[in-house]
Formats: sequence, structure tokens, C-alpha cells
Amino acid sequence: MTDALASGLQGAHGVKWRNGATLRYHLYARPSARAANALDREVFDHALSMWMAGGSGLAMMAVDDPAQADIRVMFSRSRGRWSMLGAEALDITNSREPTMNFDSHLDYGSGLIAALHEIGHMFGFRHEHQTPDTPLRWHEAAVVDHFRAKSGWSEAYTRRNVVRRHDMKRKSRHPWDPKSIMHYGFATDLIAEPAGWKNRAIASPTELSVGDRAEYRAWYPPI
Ligand SMILES: [Zn+2]
Repeated sequence: MTDALASGLQGAHGVKWRNGATLRYHLYARPSARAANALDREVFDHALSMWMAGGSGLAMMAVDDPAQADIRVMFSRSRGRWSMLGAEALDITNSREPTMNFDSHLDYGSGLIAALHEIGHMFGFRHEHQTPDTPLRWHEAAVVDHFRAKSGWSEAYTRRNVVRRHDMKRKSRHPWDPKSIMHYGFATDLIAEPAGWKNRAIASPTELSVGDRAEYRAWYPPI
């Protein structure tokens, strides 16, 4: 672990990785109940390559020893699906603790989409529906009820992951992007404004968008 990997833009380690860095990653091989299987490894690497396909200043290197890894990926059913945000992963120094967890194994359907989203967080990208420039305004009580019923989320968790705006400005010129892999899908009757989106559904993303690729290149241009 070294601070030389992080850009130090925010927080103890910052969110953005230093461009030019090589990130070492480990998918746990044991204990078996929380380990990656062969398809997990294949899909995870495929998702990585999709993010980096347009050229990348970051390099990724798989390592066998979790103590040597900057990113550690666990498959624990009981720990939810999440990733640390960018270089904040370096804040977790216990090599037995993951910096990313999947609560089910990966496949080339919803598993690939999940991997693309969590890897986006791993690269430092926040939720697109919470960007400062999204025009969306919520029926907040309905949103809280929706995610409580659908996912068992508390009000606080829904506010943190859906309603609250973050303050991270995008680096590319691409505007708010409802097709982003970092955007959630939304059912009807959750959006209060603006008029063009009011009470409409937003489809869950199924692939990296043009905006996602632009943002990745803006953060980590080939060097
Ligand atoms: Zn997310």
C-alpha cells in the first residue's frame, strides 16, 4: 500500500487514483464460502477490460497474495454489494477485509452489469443520479418506500445512495447521463421534476455509456 497510488484530491487518500499507477487486485481464493469461482474471475476481468478498452493510463495487475493487493474482492452473501470509492480503498489496510463485495456470483448477464457498476466505484466514480448537475428531483417519501420494499434499505441508506447530491464535478464535457452504468434504474412515479422526466421510469443500465467512456478517459488518459 502506498500513497503514491492516490492523487490526494480528497480525504485521507483521495478518490482518484494517480494516473500512471498500476493497481494490484486480488479476488479471494479462500475461505471457499467467500471466494471467487472461475467464472467470477473471468467476468470481473472482462468488466475491467471494457472500462479500459478506449485506452487507459491505469494498469491493473492480478496478484495471488491479498496482502499485496490494493483492491480485494470478496463474494460474501451476507455483506451486500458495494465497493470502496477509488483510492479510498487504501484506507482498508487489513488484508482479510475486502474493498469490494458481491453478494452473489457473477455471470455474463446481471453479474456483468453489477461488476461494471462496482468497478466504476473502484475507479472513483460516484452515482450518476446524484451528480450536482442532474435535473432530477424526487418524490422523496415514495423513493424511500420504494427501496425499502424492493431492497430492504433503510431511509438513511436510500438518502445516501439515491436522494443526496454529491459534490463531485465531472471531468469530461459529457452532461448528466441517465444511460450511465453509474445511474440506477427507477420505477415510475418516483421523479417529481423536471417536466420531461416527471413520474417516468428510467431503465436500468445494461452497458457502459458513451459518457462513462468519456469520463474514464478524462480521469485516466493513456500516457
Ligand atoms: Zn453504486
